Amino acid sequence: MSIVELHQLTKRYKNNRGIEDVSFSIEEEEIFGFIGPNGAGKSTTIRTLLNLIFPTSGRASIFGKDIVRDSKEIRQHIGYLPSEVHYYDDMKVIDLLSYSGQFHRNFNEDKMKKLAKRLDLDITRKIEDLSFGNRKKVGIVQALLHEPKLIILDEPTSGLDPLMQHHFFELLREEQHRGATIFFSSHILSEVQKMCDRVAIIKEGRLVKVESIESLTKNRVKNITLTFEKENPSAVDLEGIVKQEVKGRDIKLLYSGDIHPLLDQLSSLPLEDVVIEEPSLEEVFMHYYENEGGEEK
Ligand code: ADP
Repeated sequence: MSIVELHQLTKRYKNNRGIEDVSFSIEEEEIFGFIGPNGAGKSTTIRTLLNLIFPTSGRASIFGKDIVRDSKEIRQHIGYLPSEVHYYDDMKVIDLLSYSGQFHRNFNEDKMKKLAKRLDLDITRKIEDLSFGNRKKVGIVQALLHEPKLIILDEPTSGLDPLMQHHFFELLREEQHRGATIFFSSHILSEVQKMCDRVAIIKEGRLVKVESIESLTKNRVKNITLTFEKENPSAVDLEGIVKQEVKGRDIKLLYSGDIHPLLDQLSSLPLEDVVIEEPSLEEVFMHYYENEGGEEK
């Protein structure tokens, strides 16, 4: 049995597209990423799964139970971090966490303190005195403190500095080893690539693709800028070049495939400079669309 299953889940807002016909499933102990640009429908999907908003059509289940009918029972076993956290500002962190912990049978004060320590969060401080990043940490501790079976995190890393992100990812790995299933959304591809077993890609309310990180990495797309010694260089001829644009002394490439033939070729060119970077999500999506919706080549 899958832990989470969506069947043609659709949520339309009055004047806005939400999500349309979204279907995928998440297996036990998976770290599953949900990626797409802002406004793609990630929060809408998550909020529907948590029964914070009602689906327009389609259905979904969590732990084999219906998300609408059995939502109360389901919620007992879920840790949720919303994309924006709002708290009672004049409460101390420790009081807030103890208060929210009481609602769960598995609340473990020791675990709460350990988590806070790991994230370098001072629980004696008042919420109103915390920075955005520290508030995020409060939300993370809150989502993990009752040892939930399923952890759903909506844009968990925004506001965390790189070191904290690292600690946070370590925590997630430990949760996975404890037996938890993790579903988290992001608009940053590299983050998802680092953490997840599989990802679902969503754009404009529709699922583009569900793919294992392994094959995403195999097909990893790169943005390459070559600066030549002279103007108007001739085009580079290499399998794996998805797009090529010549401008002045520069050639911009979108490249997908093995890097070795690329590096061999580059070393023989009269280059002045090379920049290789991760493409934006948009460019990755373009790549998928150009390959007829992401079919592997
Ligand atoms: P994401 O989480 O991927 O950034 P959202 O799920 O927040 O995307 O938004 C998906 C679409 O639904 C957007 O077009 C957004 O404007 C719309 N939307 C989200 N929440 C509401 C709402 N409460 N009322 C109306 N439209 C909404």
